[in-house]
Amino acid sequence: MRKNLKVIAGGIRLIEGLAPGFLPCCVLQACMTALSPFINIYLSAALVNGLLAGWDMARLLEGVLLMAVLNLVCGGLGAWMERLVNVKQNVLFQQYDWRLDSKMMELSYREVESYEVQALRERIRQMANVNGMGLWNLVNPVKALVNSVFTILFAVAIFCEIFVQCGPGAGALTGFFCSVWASAGLAALILGNVCVNLYTVSRSTKKVFAAYAGLVPINQVYSYYLENYIDTYHSGKDIRLYRQGDLIRSEMGQLLERGRTPMKRLKGIEFRYSGLGSLAGFAMNLSIYLTVGMRALAGLFPVGSIVQYVGGIGQFVSGFTTFAAQITLLNSNVEALEVILQYLGMGKETGKGGLTGRGDSLEKDNLTEKEPEGRGNGSSVGSEGAAGSAGLQLRPAESRSAEPQSMESRYMEPVDVAESLEIEFRGVSFTYPGTESKALDNLSFAIRPGEKLAVVGVNGSGKTTMIKLLCGLYEPDRGEILVNGEDIRELDQEACRKLFGVVFQDFQLFSFGLGQNLAGSRIYDGERARAALEEAGFGARLAGMDLETSLYKDFDPQGVEISGGEAQKIAIARALYRQAPILILDEPTAALDPQAEYEVYEKLNHISENRTAIFISHRMSSCRFCGRILVLDGGRLVQEGSHEELLRDSGGRYFALWHAQEQYYR
Ligand code: ADP
Repeated sequence: MRKNLKVIAGGIRLIEGLAPGFLPCCVLQACMTALSPFINIYLSAALVNGLLAGWDMARLLEGVLLMAVLNLVCGGLGAWMERLVNVKQNVLFQQYDWRLDSKMMELSYREVESYEVQALRERIRQMANVNGMGLWNLVNPVKALVNSVFTILFAVAIFCEIFVQCGPGAGALTGFFCSVWASAGLAALILGNVCVNLYTVSRSTKKVFAAYAGLVPINQVYSYYLENYIDTYHSGKDIRLYRQGDLIRSEMGQLLERGRTPMKRLKGIEFRYSGLGSLAGFAMNLSIYLTVGMRALAGLFPVGSIVQYVGGIGQFVSGFTTFAAQITLLNSNVEALEVILQYLGMGKETGKGGLTGRGDSLEKDNLTEKEPEGRGNGSSVGSEGAAGSAGLQLRPAESRSAEPQSMESRYMEPVDVAESLEIEFRGVSFTYPGTESKALDNLSFAIRPGEKLAVVGVNGSGKTTMIKLLCGLYEPDRGEILVNGEDIRELDQEACRKLFGVVFQDFQLFSFGLGQNLAGSRIYDGERARAALEEAGFGARLAGMDLETSLYKDFDPQGVEISGGEAQKIAIARALYRQAPILILDEPTAALDPQAEYEVYEKLNHISENRTAIFISHRMSSCRFCGRILVLDGGRLVQEGSHEELLRDSGGRYFALWHAQEQYYR
């Protein structure tokens, strides 16, 4: 109970944080909505009583007018409040979605990739889809709960006097209904009815909720099929060629069938419990009408008051029923709310400096993108590559220019920060979460400033993992990665990010414009983008499109579909656009044709000029131009040296790899 209250309070704080003032507006609106029926009940009774008491026409008209004005004011205020609540509710849910989505950008790569985070996120989505579990089922019950509390209070105010309006009646039967005993009996019946309603409503709400919860995993799998196989054309080729359509259809059909059973049960539950509640309501209403009617007959109060008391009691019981239902709903929703709070609370406790891999915090700057400083008169958009200017003391003081550089010259000038960047892996070990074996095992090596380094090894030897750690997507379990002697974890995160221009094997381009893809921003420098694309070998293709052309057709029917090789060139251009001092290419030419591969490697020497460059490649011949080659095996560094040096060791791993490939090219 206490825990539930704590979670609900956390949810309410979340709502207030997302849409300040929403809850006070709900309370006011609930008060207005609850008051409205009582105006009619109370004044109708007063008018009937006035009529019986012989009020003249003027007084009666006054009463009718008062009723109309109060209805108008209350209805108008209620409608105005409702509009306000709806507007704020829209803001609330927009901000909520934004907060949920932003979270994925803020979390570290390690967290984003983890099964737990993926599962949490998917659960939040599916719970909300199935029956609004989560924030909806907090907002709506809170509104209904406040309304029911006002309803109960107003109802008690207009019917409570019935219990003390006792007296003698003509005859035994009337006498009984007018007695204190009948008052006590009526009170007991009302309470009994409330109890029955509390029981039936809370039981049925709980069961209905549980039935919906049972639909969540079914919905989850169904949505997976929908999003990955049906709603996207990307899987269309494989589905058709491998005739997977029937399999997918049959799986989805089975899921629908599984979903039908809880739905059928749900309707049965609702019917049974509402039947029981109606029976109890019938018994109570019969007793109320008998008691109230007999007392009016005995002259204990005017006949018009029957409307007031019966109406009041009816509102009281329905107010309580709503109250019970909402409490049950709130309690049943606690689990979903906990999942949301857990997800939104993630990452806060471990946020550190350096390259811990936390994504960008989007909370502070909601939906807008700021134009970087320094833009204007056709020159560059703030050069990301100038890592030295981002607060990280990477360059020795004596090598810095005394003159402040203009934006233009900073852009045009090749990045020379690399000349002073020394990177060192010192005894680095790493095991992926949830796995047993080490992906990197006590890895130690240094990269000299401006060096061209190749990393080779069979699949699974740890090459990509090494890069992921270097870029701060993961942290070492043991050992440290140093930049100019400083642990990368201790360095400024933003500055560290700007050190690397990386192309991963499984790089991802987005369905935005070509220029936006390169800059990761709506604002980009056209000249720089064209130069980067040209250098990456995309120049010829660029002639038929412009930088605004969308990649893919997801958002733009005029978007272009690009081949795997073209995508790889764009990905390389994206890394070059960054003008980062360290260029890392993980299998950069795997999807390129031999001619394109040759061109890229021809250019690599130039591209990586003034930069430290790390190349991972399966094509051993492409590593030859690198001054030094590291050979990884099972996460360990097993050999190190130039191509010629390594080939001299005929028993070494490199020799075996080289000759395994060489025989196909003879
Ligand atoms: P390479 O790039 O040399 O092919 P990787 O660095 O990708 O090798 O992988 C090294 C080892 O780590 C492999 O055994 C691989 O299965 C494992 N591995 C890679 N990524 C993950 C991951 N996200 N989760 C668990 N294990 C992983």
